[in-house]
Amino acid sequence: MDLFEYQGKQYFARYGIPTSPGGVASTADEAVAQAEAAGYPVVVKAQVKVGGRGKAGGIKLAADAEEVRRHAGAILGMDIKGHVVHRLWIEHASDIAEEYYASFTLDRPAKTYLGMLSAEGGVEIEEVAATNPGAIARLHVDPVRGLDVEAARRWADEAGLPDAARDPAAEVLVALYRCYEEGDCDLAEINPLILTTGGRVHALDAKVTLDDNARFRHREWEEFAATETEDPREQMARDKGLNYVGLSGDVGIIANGAGLAMSTCDVVSQVGGAPANFLDIGGGANADVMSAALEVINADPSVRAIFVNIFGGITRVDEVAKGVIEALGRVDLRSPIVLRLDGTNVQEGRALLQPHLSERLMAEATMLEAARRSVALAAAGERGSEERA
Ligand code: GDP
Ligand code: MN
Repeated sequence: MDLFEYQGKQYFARYGIPTSPGGVASTADEAVAQAEAAGYPVVVKAQVKVGGRGKAGGIKLAADAEEVRRHAGAILGMDIKGHVVHRLWIEHASDIAEEYYASFTLDRPAKTYLGMLSAEGGVEIEEVAATNPGAIARLHVDPVRGLDVEAARRWADEAGLPDAARDPAAEVLVALYRCYEEGDCDLAEINPLILTTGGRVHALDAKVTLDDNARFRHREWEEFAATETEDPREQMARDKGLNYVGLSGDVGIIANGAGLAMSTCDVVSQVGGAPANFLDIGGGANADVMSAALEVINADPSVRAIFVNIFGGITRVDEVAKGVIEALGRVDLRSPIVLRLDGTNVQEGRALLQPHLSERLMAEATMLEAARRSVALAAAGERGSEERA
């Protein structure tokens, strides 16, 4: 779950990471009230879950109420990379001497935590990595040992932070690590981390991604979840207890087992198609689960063909076939289905399906053939809808 900047800063505050005083507003009047409370000058900041707000005109300094009102009016409703601004964060403006970058994330290949620190902050880290990779000091942190202030100081030196910033920056880095580790983040990023003209180091921005797998032990995340603008497809799937990830293509995918579902997405891509989703229905494939899966896929307007890829292991193929047939009686599908069923009792399963096969329900013997067929059907569906339009 990604947090808005203001939520990220609230989260930072729990771990003692210094930020500027401020408040949330969703109207120009509220923005002025928050500015009065924070003290002028202030920064008016668009709250959207996307980077580069500054460049897009979503971050403005304001010296008085009139300027706050003007900027708030202009930024509310603004579209930043497809994200419409409904909320603002108003904070007391900082006097910036220098801008740094700091983050913690998981280094999967190295199987440990990775901290990144750079004296070149404010710009996107991808840009620094591309143009000046030497400017990023990387630090692997052993999860058992953690990060202490001494190591953080050495790290700050290595990154080329000036002496004046070293000690306060080290404190922030230790706090950021705690936030990342104890706070169960996938990503905790501060860009820019600033040195003020007064010699303080604090977080001017916050980019936090929480690890959804840890949701069960964080009651306090509920307030973040409440403002989450989730993909409506994912919300529907979650309500039905399905393991679903929305993608941008037109071939709906249902498979049993996460590995098979991923392979199915790969094969569809390999034959030139684009998966509309990942959906793993798990071990059982009875009519209830299959109906739920088909309903979710059917509700996705981009879907033009559905590829159901089931390998019967403990779940026998004849049981799966019965489930599919019953589900088809319950759900009124917009798109044709291509089935690939294999595994235990495959002959019995295919025999059960045989009388139900049609132009709307096709069977293929292999995964590759089924992928080709569903991709071709999706393309034909696309042409059909263009002709109708
Ligand atoms: P992003 O563009 O979405 O990453 O938004 P940021 O919160 O990082 O802000 C972008 C830039 O706006 C920063 O790098 C700063 O240069 C500038 N900025 C943000 N807050 C302040 C502030 O309090 N004072 C000043 N002078 N500049 C600010
Ligand atoms: Mn930023």
